[in-house]
Amino acid sequence: MTTKSRIFAPALLAITLAACAVSPTGRRQLALVSEDSAIAASDEAYAMQIGELRKEGKIVPESSRVTKRVEGITERLVAQATMKRPETADWKWSMEVVDDPEVVNAWCMAGGRMAVYTGLIQQLDPTDDELAQVLAHEISHALANHTAERMSVALATNAGVLLAGVLSEDSQKTMSQAALAAALAIQLPNSRAAESEADEIGIELAAKAGYNPNAAISLWEKMGKVGGSGPPQFLSTHPSPANRQERLAELAPQMMAYYEEARRNAPTRAVARASVD
Ligand SMILES: [Zn+2]
Repeated sequence: MTTKSRIFAPALLAITLAACAVSPTGRRQLALVSEDSAIAASDEAYAMQIGELRKEGKIVPESSRVTKRVEGITERLVAQATMKRPETADWKWSMEVVDDPEVVNAWCMAGGRMAVYTGLIQQLDPTDDELAQVLAHEISHALANHTAERMSVALATNAGVLLAGVLSEDSQKTMSQAALAAALAIQLPNSRAAESEADEIGIELAAKAGYNPNAAISLWEKMGKVGGSGPPQFLSTHPSPANRQERLAELAPQMMAYYEEARRNAPTRAVARASVD
């Protein structure tokens, strides 16, 4: 167990009793933070974080090959996400590629605010099908309102102590408490139940967008083999459900019909760049 999860365990227990909602797959989930509040807070946190990264010269330009690749995949997936949950057509879907070869990570905040790190692309060396599985999995966390669940945990703890290294001190002072919680939420592990949910929704979104469902299995295999100084950040926020590989292997054949159909004609939906002043 990591230091972070030890700190969060008592808070999690306490607020489990407070409020519950039901996720898209029928699971009861924490709901101290409404989805609308999570989206508003995530907007603020995203603008702040991307703004800081841009100042540091860490946002890969729109014209680069890696950005075009990531955007092309994202637009096909977002088209499927908005079909699965039509009200998300109003979300400000956006994607930025962060230039940090050391960081193997990707995330999607509430409201469709996404980022992927060059470390994930360089160290994992994913095929388009595998990269689509990562992004579809992240989008699924947002579709299933998992950000609000993690924000509930963040708000119930002394978030400031855990923000070290996440944001500069200046940003911490200027951001609202909710935005701090949203920034922290993407650093917190999802529950294993949330992981199973995102796996299930993600493989379907990706198949319907024309990406091979078998890549969900090879992706997690590759993720487990990434070397370096420690396990990839992505694995610390995405704890493995015990039967992830088996479950994905069961799901993949069921998704083949969607995949075959989509390969013939998959739509796209445009995503914006982050609006940062
Ligand atoms: Zn996950």
